[in-house]
Amino acid sequence: MKPTHIEHIGIAVENLDEAIKYWENVMGLECYNVEEVADQKVKTAFFKIGDVKIELLEATSPESTIASFVEKRGAGVHHIAFAVENTDEALADAEAKGVRLIDKQARKGAENLNIGFLHPKSTLGVLTEFCCK
Ligand code: ZN
Repeated sequence: MKPTHIEHIGIAVENLDEAIKYWENVMGLECYNVEEVADQKVKTAFFKIGDVKIELLEATSPESTIASFVEKRGAGVHHIAFAVENTDEALADAEAKGVRLIDKQARKGAENLNIGFLHPKSTLGVLTEFCCK
């Protein structure tokens, strides 16, 4: 398994509308998609910068992992998503190398990507997402 590029950077925010304004007005980027992922109890907003996307995440429920992240650490960089050819294979490969997984199998994320997370305790503190189309 070797990631081909960084697909997106996930950023936890407290208020999606406020955050979209910042990224549009200050950073000059255009939000091209807002999407709720019920499964993960988040609302997301996407921006493109070159080949990389910025994914803003706002919790839609106090049980969302984004809610506990923001409560513990405040808003900020939450995860880095690496594009791989096959998410299931990349997860299995990481597990075989002793990495603890959050997802044993790929699931559907925003933008209909097949996503899976590695546990940050196994990745030197960087919450790592694998994704593929
Ligand atoms: Zn993501």
